[in-house]
Order: sequence, then C-alpha cells, then structure tokens
Amino acid sequence: MTILSAADIPSIALLYKLRKLPPTPPAHPLPTTHTPPTPAPRPSSTLNARLAVLRGDITHLAVDAVVNAANRSLLGGGGVDGAIHRAAGPQLQRACRALGGCATGSAKMTAAYGLPCRHVIHAVGPVYELGDGPRSAALLAGCYARSLALAAGAGCRSVAFSAISTGVYGFPSREAAPVALGAIRRFLEGPEGEGIDKVVIVTFEMKDVDAYNEFIPLYFPPVLEEETTAPTAETDRAKRETDAQLEAEAEAVANELPSAPTSDPSDAGRAGKKQKHDGA
Ligand code: ADP
Repeated sequence: MTILSAADIPSIALLYKLRKLPPTPPAHPLPTTHTPPTPAPRPSSTLNARLAVLRGDITHLAVDAVVNAANRSLLGGGGVDGAIHRAAGPQLQRACRALGGCATGSAKMTAAYGLPCRHVIHAVGPVYELGDGPRSAALLAGCYARSLALAAGAGCRSVAFSAISTGVYGFPSREAAPVALGAIRRFLEGPEGEGIDKVVIVTFEMKDVDAYNEFIPLYFPPVLEEETTAPTAETDRAKRETDAQLEAEAEAVANELPSAPTSDPSDAGRAGKKQKHDGA
C-alpha cells in the first residue's frame, strides 16, 4: 500500500500542463440543474496549484485532514465511512460517539488514530431529493465550506475530500461536482482559505472521475501560456527546461501513485451502508 503525502499529489496546474486533464469540458450538454458560476471563474495559476484531483483510496493519504462522507449519527456506516473507520480503528468510533451526531450540511472533526492523516472531518451530506435540487445543493455546499473552515481553524494546510453524497445518498455526480468545486473555489479565494495549500478531490468511481474532468475546466480554468514577447533562443531553452522538469516531476509522481480501483464498488458491497434517517 502506497501512502501519499500532499506534496506527492499532482496539482491540476501540472495535470493541465501534461495534458492529463482536458482543458475544455466535453461537448455534451450541462445538467439542466446547473447554474453557471457568476462571475465566470478566471484562470489562476496560483489557485490551480492549490487544487488536486486523484483517483484512489482516501485512507491512504497522509494529508492534514481527510473529509469523510458520514451520516448524522457519526457512528460509521458503509462506503467511504466504513473504509475510514476500519483503517482508523475503534478509537475513532469512540471519539465520534462523544460528538453527539451532526446536522446535515455540516461537519465535525476528530483525530485520525490509525490513519496516516492527522484529522478526520466527518461531513454529513444530504440524501439527494429529486425535485429539490437547490436545497440538496445548498446543504452539500455547506459540507464543503464547513469542512474547509474546520480544517483551516485547526491549522491544516492540506485537505482531501471524498465525493460526499454521491454514493448511497444518491447525489448525481454531474450535479455534485460543480457544487463542490464552487464551494472550494469560494473558500480558497476568501481570507479563511489563505492557509490552505492543497485541496485534494479524491474520486473512486468512474462517474466521479468523469464529472470532475468535465467541471474542473469550468471552475478552475487552465491558464493559457502568455506570448507577450517574441520567443528568443534563451526563452525557448528556459521553456524546454521547465517542461522537462515538470515532465520528470510528474513521472516520479505517477510512479508513486497508488493503483486506481479497477472496478466500481458493487451494489452488494454497499449493502447495509447507512440509515437514511429523515431525508434531511
Ligand atoms: P454517501 O452516503 O455520502 O453517498 P458513500 O460512502 O456511499 O457516501 O459514497 C461517497 C463517495 O465515496 C462515493 O463516490 C464512493 O465511490 C466513494 N468511496 C467509497 N470508498 C472510498 C474510499 N475508500 N476512498 C475514497 N472514496 C471512496
């Protein structure tokens, strides 16, 4: 099992550069529920260096905080919640019990015990309500904002998110990804976000990989290389050197990355996952 630290996880700035992340979304129509962000997000190399996307198991990340997709009891369940509790050990459940549950759309933090990260933030996403997308979206955005505020308040510099609500709670990935990205961008641009160096979006299933590939270019657009001055032999050489360095860095990173899941979890694997208490 490979444990990755925040520095090992390539930012989207690097993924764009290496063309491992498409710079424009695919041509198919956006979900009807999607409201384009206003004002349109501007390309920012500093913001793009602070966002990462990685397909793999969140329990293998040695970041400052990982964000769990918990339920309101905070006592553990299936899916990513089960994986986090298994890897952390029984002390995590004891710590969660002392928190007395958590409201939907909010989050609470504990230590990480047997996990390689320092903190676990337990966010309670909404159960997706068909026909009540805006309410579900507001609650989901609340999970991201509250989790980031808790992380920043605890001095965390790196935070990894699981795809909250997109499993058993039924939030369509193509609706959840823009909500998550909008909330992350707002936080990173605000004063509270200054201490956060890296937010890692951890995808597990292909539907989430596809959704993030589609929406990252809309919320964190690539920075086009400016050609303000005519290239000289000197600038050409410098550019070749930088590209080679990035390429080498990326190759080193890629060799270290854990193997992504080869199949999506089966429905049987999700059985007994969570109690969907009151739909809130
Ligand atoms: P929810 O009930 O909030 O929908 P789930 O645990 O069912 O929570 O799913 C949330 C997301 O976590 C899903 O996209 C699922 O594929 C993903 N997931 C499951 N196990 C892991 C894991 N070990 N690491 C990262 N993500 C995971």
